[in-house]
Amino acid sequence: MEFELSPHHQQVRATARRIARELIAPQAAAIDEQGTYPHHVFDAFREAGLLGLAFPAQYGGSGAGTLGLALATEEVGKYCQSSALILLLTRLSTAAIMLGGSEAQKQRYARGVATGELKGAFALTELGAGSDAAAIQTTARREGDTWVLNGQKRWAGQATEADFCIVVARTDPESNGGHPRGYGVFIVDLPNTGFRITRELPKMGVTAVPVVDIELRDCRVPAANLVGDPVHGFKLTMEGLNVVRPVVAARGLGLAQGALQYAVDYAQQRQTFGRPIIDHQAIGFRLAEIAMKIEAARWLTYRACLLVDEGRSDVAIAPYLSMAKAYATELAVEAADVALQTLGGNGYLKDYATERYYRDAKQLMLVEGTSEIHRMIIQRALKDGRLRYD
Ligand SMILES: Cc1cc2nc3c(=O)[nH]c(=O)nc-3n(C[C@H](O)[C@H](O)[C@H](O)COP(=O)(O)OP(=O)(O)OC[C@H]3O[C@@H](n4cnc5c(N)ncnc54)[C@H](O)[C@@H]3O)c2cc1C
Repeated sequence: MEFELSPHHQQVRATARRIARELIAPQAAAIDEQGTYPHHVFDAFREAGLLGLAFPAQYGGSGAGTLGLALATEEVGKYCQSSALILLLTRLSTAAIMLGGSEAQKQRYARGVATGELKGAFALTELGAGSDAAAIQTTARREGDTWVLNGQKRWAGQATEADFCIVVARTDPESNGGHPRGYGVFIVDLPNTGFRITRELPKMGVTAVPVVDIELRDCRVPAANLVGDPVHGFKLTMEGLNVVRPVVAARGLGLAQGALQYAVDYAQQRQTFGRPIIDHQAIGFRLAEIAMKIEAARWLTYRACLLVDEGRSDVAIAPYLSMAKAYATELAVEAADVALQTLGGNGYLKDYATERYYRDAKQLMLVEGTSEIHRMIIQRALKDGRLRYD
């Protein structure tokens, strides 16, 4: 058992830390306020090789795996969640392709994302189907060498910038039930006349990466753009989400650290009743508690990364991925709350970073499975004996 990062991973972390501190931190408030896609941050990630961390060398990456991507995301997430999301989307938009795609798909889309030539988006959720993802209504029907997609998607992050969008659709509209079959994962190259962004959603935080509504109307996709087969696309999608979860955890882990350090620095300066507020136990203990939880979240997150980097995405590791995701993202919300409270009234002002941490943190508990869904996954594992503590 090792508790030290490899030299490669240390180097990845140092590179990400440098970009995060020197480029991103000074601009994080402006990026949030402007709410426009930070292309210069994307370019800095590309030049430093951070977009290819999770990909093997044969697809243009550096082979740093999920752990490498998580380390970079953690560093960036300390200061700017929009920028951290850009890193995460390298994985979300390609996970199904890497798990079940053809060699040609990997060479084109994974390599494209790894090298920064392409940006991808991921469209699973619909207005009527989020947590219950199998309830999606978007359909795909085969016509000769083409699949024709129809339906509406909600929430696809970065789609306004994307060169391709992963769309999950039903190939068999009659399918339903416990082990959903009859779903396909499709790569829609953009632009496509049947793919229309109908609305940019006005959200509370993470303002610089847009999320959108999409209308698919007779959106034609070449048969070669089906990922895997047209039956098991739901399983492939869930396995893809599994391998992304440790990276979402890393966003939470980063935010919690950024918020804590911000609060600690403030609490050393601010005096009330003749001493720095960090010396009031009510404040100091709360900060100490967040520090304890950060260390716990860190090991949950890194372990989840290592499980994925062993090449696994199966149901046996799912509860550990869920624990990391739920714990680290709930900690982000708690840390942001404690930090804001530590700053008192100032914490509520846009002059200070705490209100941004507060707004940005909450979405982490909603994406890639809500906290409730992760408790369901853990509960199921306890019930069927995959998780035992005797
Ligand atoms: C900022 C942001 C970015 C996003 N980006 C993307 C993206 O890029 N691509 C994409 O496809 N989707 C994306 N999503 C969508 C996200 O995955 C969904 O919002 C999420 O899955 C929850 O679905 P829902 O919003 O429909 O909530 P619902 O499923 O309607 O859930 C509502 C509430 O009920 C709870 N709940 C539901 N079922 C149960 C149950 N069985 N037991 C207990 N509680 C339950 C939920 O936990 C939640 O609290 C994004 C969302 C946000 C907020």
